[in-house]
Amino acid sequence: MIISMKHGATRQEIDHVCQRLAEFGYKAHCIEGAERVVIGAIGLPERKQQAMESIEAALGVESVVSVSQPFKFVSKESHPGKSIIKVNGHSIGGSEFIVIAGPCSVESEQQIIETAEEVKRAGAHILRGGAFKPRTSPYDFQGMEEEGLKLLQKAKEHTGLAICTELMSVEDISLVTEYADVIQIGARNMQNFNLLKRLGKVNRPILLKRGMSSTIKELLFSAEYILSGGNANVMLCERGIRTFETYTRNTYDISAIPALEELTHLPIVADPSHGTGKRSLIPAMARASVAAGADALIVEVHPNPEKAFSDGAQSLRFSDFEKMMKELKPYIELWKGSRAAQPPALASK
Ligand code: PEP
Ligand code: MN
Repeated sequence: MIISMKHGATRQEIDHVCQRLAEFGYKAHCIEGAERVVIGAIGLPERKQQAMESIEAALGVESVVSVSQPFKFVSKESHPGKSIIKVNGHSIGGSEFIVIAGPCSVESEQQIIETAEEVKRAGAHILRGGAFKPRTSPYDFQGMEEEGLKLLQKAKEHTGLAICTELMSVEDISLVTEYADVIQIGARNMQNFNLLKRLGKVNRPILLKRGMSSTIKELLFSAEYILSGGNANVMLCERGIRTFETYTRNTYDISAIPALEELTHLPIVADPSHGTGKRSLIPAMARASVAAGADALIVEVHPNPEKAFSDGAQSLRFSDFEKMMKELKPYIELWKGSRAAQPPALASK
């Protein structure tokens, strides 16, 4: 079950609830958000009904809900409405459709600043760019690392765009956190459980990508690691999965978007770039992602894709990105209409 404490519940009241849960045989996971505290009670005690009633009656408790799904904190049952994640004045998961755009890899000062300016001009809200790159071959470009992070910071100072960049390992947590407004966890690290546990203690929103051979439920369990560790600001990213199809780089699983919407309150980010691997297919898949109900898009854009150090074939040119953004407008208007008809969302805890 999930226990939401009242705004301003005291330390004593919180500790008392945790103690009562332990007496009933539960393990308590406490998420201390800026506004309120949420406690997840994990376990299968015999006196569940009695425990619920007792906790409901405790001082400082606002609500107690029983969650049937095995992933408690990410489950829709635990949180009415959608979670909203605030990034640099924008809200992901609310009434604004967010676009994250930029190159696969940070390659040079000119490349990242020029791209930041162009994607901003075309309507993007957040700049993406990898400084640490997970590459299949050890001989391929591995990223500019700290130098790349510094260039992202320059691009941020130049344009005001927030930065989304990948973190690959536990030892780089403090370095990447210094520069990133959103920390991306790539498909290959979706089940790096040590890293996920540590992200629970990181004070940055996490963009968690679906592993290329992972099920929707496995993605939710990975997010549960982060939330149960204390960080409620997680967004989930569909980026395509491996199937027998070879015409596209991956099979872009559009159905994951409404499926996640049914199961979780976490915002959903759609990545048609890695989802298809082909520049020509991205605009149509971006429109489909908006129509399917995603909260945001993440798209790769490069000044000269032919010369890109990574993922050139799926990188949009500036003119392609601008055209895609224009074509998306009527779809985003419809999206906004359907959002307005939904019950109001709650700010994330
Ligand atoms: C990327 O965003 O460039 C990336 C490496 O993504 P993924 O982890 O989805 O392959
Ligand atoms: Mn890429």
